[in-house]
Amino acid sequence: MMHDPNCLFCKIIEGKIPSKKVYEDEHVFAFHDIAPWAPVHFLMVPKLHIPSMAQITPEHSALMGHMMALAPKLALEQGCRPYPDGGYRIVTNTGSEGGQEVHHLHFHVMGGPRPWLRG
Ligand code: AMP
Ligand code: ZN
Repeated sequence: MMHDPNCLFCKIIEGKIPSKKVYEDEHVFAFHDIAPWAPVHFLMVPKLHIPSMAQITPEHSALMGHMMALAPKLALEQGCRPYPDGGYRIVTNTGSEGGQEVHHLHFHVMGGPRPWLRG
């Protein structure tokens, strides 16, 4: 299904819960993490409700490629300094032992001057 009515990030994508939007297109939504670990910390989510990386199949290749190509561009726009002195982390927690709390696939993009709060 496109949206899961019980999913926090689906509600954010639909605007039912407010967020600080970073970027939006037909397939992707990005917004600032409410509890940032780093000076720059935003989340990128597919608009399609996919619970985690564990559900990714070859049919999602174009979507995953689109998101990975977009991440470095958005990171710089949000204030991460350029590679190699600057940079950022792209993190995807998957499942309980992977530290995933919200079960709508998301990529954390974290960067900015260190030290960071976490990570
Ligand atoms: P994870 O532990 O990888 O599932 O990450 C979930 C992330 O969502 C955490 O970093 C939270 O701070 C973040 N988060 C939870 N609720 C919201 C919200 N309403 N708006 C923005 N970020 C949120
Ligand atoms: Zn969802």
